[in-house]
Amino acid sequence: MRVLTFGNHEFEGQNSAYLLTDGDLVTLVDTGIAVPTVRDEFTAGLDEQNLGFKDIDQIVLTHWHPDHTGLAGDIQAQSDATVYVHEADAPLVTRDATALRELEARQRELFETWGMPQEKRDELLPFLSTEEIVGRTPDVEPLSDGATIDIGDRTLEVLHAPGHTDGLCCFAFDGDHGPEAFVGDAVLPKYTPNVGGADVRVEEPLAKYLDTLESLAERSFDRVWPGHRDVIEAPTERAREIIEHHRERAKRVIDILDDHGPADAWTVSDHLFGDLEGIHILHGPGEAYAHLDHLERHGLVEHTASGYRAVATHETVGDVV
Ligand SMILES: [Zn+2]
Ligand SMILES: [Zn+2]
Repeated sequence: MRVLTFGNHEFEGQNSAYLLTDGDLVTLVDTGIAVPTVRDEFTAGLDEQNLGFKDIDQIVLTHWHPDHTGLAGDIQAQSDATVYVHEADAPLVTRDATALRELEARQRELFETWGMPQEKRDELLPFLSTEEIVGRTPDVEPLSDGATIDIGDRTLEVLHAPGHTDGLCCFAFDGDHGPEAFVGDAVLPKYTPNVGGADVRVEEPLAKYLDTLESLAERSFDRVWPGHRDVIEAPTERAREIIEHHRERAKRVIDILDDHGPADAWTVSDHLFGDLEGIHILHGPGEAYAHLDHLERHGLVEHTASGYRAVATHETVGDVV
């Protein structure tokens, strides 16, 4: 397996793609973002293996975000590769008009609910327009949880891992010393992946994401390969660390409501993250909302006409996160 790393700054930055050349099949996991610098890095990386876009047999996409799917259509146009992605994310990868319209409508509805100021909505708008970075649209084969993909001498097992997006998938395989997986943005080495803003279609995003982290931890992978930056050598510990991070964040949210509540998601985000720029204008209040919604569903927070207010102490957070 070859790791292809890119120097892009969009989204979480430094995306990775993975090249598998098992048996007589050439498989890619993710394709980077469709900007000229990444395209050059991509072709240079393939060239080192005496391969080009035309040699790719299949492409496996972890989720719909353009920094993971950007070049899939261009590669498919040259190679006729089969492109796989989970059925929930497929309509956004194929840029289905209805799916895009529903995504935008949901974003607008939530900006209202979150209390996002108009000038911040105007500032965010250019970052939501992905026309320049999506590249050519591929045809896709939809995947569901538990499916397997033949990659030559081995198989990839599809593990639906929702939270960051609705259709995010990890792909498990037999590694050199034990089970390994490609995890996309389900677990990242440096940042905690955004929940709530990165895909506003996800219902109960924090609950889904915590389940995903728990089931990844239970698989006891030897190591996992994320969508950004370096391999994660202790994935179970990393998954548990992110769960703990969300527990601490949920406690902070209760404390913020105690001090400043009732408050909307935008205000809670402001206390958590401070002033936001670029795509973080979406991710910050999205994350705050994911927590408020989760705490409300568990009765620790109440949603009133004037905003959210805490109805439990932060010691009780441990029961629900
Ligand atoms: Zn992502
Ligand atoms: Zn990403």
